[in-house]
Amino acid sequence: LFAHVEMAPRDPILGLNEQFAADPRPNKVNLGVGVYYDDEGKLPLLRCVQAAEQRLMEKPAPRGYLPIDGLAAYDSAVKALVFGADSAVVRDGRVATVQALGGTGGLKIGADFLKKLLPQAKVLISDPSWENHRALFTNAGFPVETYTYYDAARRGVDVDGMLASLRAAPAGTIVVLHACCHNPTGYDLTPAQWDAVVAVVRERGLIPFLDMAYQGFGFGIAEDGAAVGKFVAAGLDVFVATSFSKSFSLYGERVGALSVVCASKDEADRVLSQLKIVVRTNYSNPPTHGAAVVATVLNTPELRTQWEQELGEMRTRIKAMRQRLVDGLKAAGVQQDMSFITQQLGMFSYSGLSKDQMVRLRTEFGVYGTDTGRMCVAALNSRNIDHVCQAIAAVLR
Ligand code: PMP
Repeated sequence: LFAHVEMAPRDPILGLNEQFAADPRPNKVNLGVGVYYDDEGKLPLLRCVQAAEQRLMEKPAPRGYLPIDGLAAYDSAVKALVFGADSAVVRDGRVATVQALGGTGGLKIGADFLKKLLPQAKVLISDPSWENHRALFTNAGFPVETYTYYDAARRGVDVDGMLASLRAAPAGTIVVLHACCHNPTGYDLTPAQWDAVVAVVRERGLIPFLDMAYQGFGFGIAEDGAAVGKFVAAGLDVFVATSFSKSFSLYGERVGALSVVCASKDEADRVLSQLKIVVRTNYSNPPTHGAAVVATVLNTPELRTQWEQELGEMRTRIKAMRQRLVDGLKAAGVQQDMSFITQQLGMFSYSGLSKDQMVRLRTEFGVYGTDTGRMCVAALNSRNIDHVCQAIAAVLR
């Protein structure tokens, strides 16, 4: 049966983790995967999460099955966070939300539902994009192409190119957009550029699918969610996959969601019934713990305040490390202007380093980033920053 099964290539990012784990050098640094570490180099367990877990422990609940679409208190908290607590679409019952296995799970539920709804559609992702976008939509049965996004020469978004790509797409094309903190480039659209994208999406009858895996890492919850609000305000049907992996440091709990904004409550009820079939036939229903923690935090005013504070601390620390990287590279003798690193948002810096330079960083210095030049600045800290600066300066020389 398995004689002809081929060995699949390693996941480009998780494969790097395996290589890193096998590296014996004590000063090795993993800037590969998108995970936030604190200044001690440790994965944080947020205080608001610990407090929520304590509350949950005080009244231990039996572990029955959750409803197919997840914990109701969680789904409503997601809606409030993503669309705003007093938003008309939520109040009018026009949003169908299902709890999902992380942001990835939300994307996959949306992809499977869309494949049934629009079997002939194609999917456009940004060039470049998170590696898994292409694989996930391809595996859901869609042809996947790209829209212009990154402008390497100008270090930013080629918005004219992006709009041209979108204008050229046939009606009914699904467009995957990073709501904030674009992975891998760290370059987001300005509010005015979002307006232009929303206008083209509407004119051309495209289907927006927003991926929001880093809400709160750019500027704040409301600011980072603003792009979602623009699509909703334009009266469009929109898909939004969200994740708490990073913003709650709950990577392994797999807490995310898919929300679909519809034209009426009746539509939303019917869409929800279809999303539930996708869930039911894939894994039946979602797990309890992570959703209970997130719902407790978001629905308890003092924990919610504490969460935003802790999220703010993560965001501030990342920005400080970006600045230290720029300063450290200069001090290490790098001539070229590296200040673009502080203009990028979120966990990543698209460094502009070549594949050869990234391989040298790995082999000679034990500094692991992806071959595309992406580095996770959220994994830099006071102890490893000097080594990373020296290493980058050496390969740039
Ligand atoms: N979308 C993007 C752009 C991401 O970077 C990630 C996480 N790396 C995800 C989705 C998925 O996150 P999760 O771990 O919650 O599935």
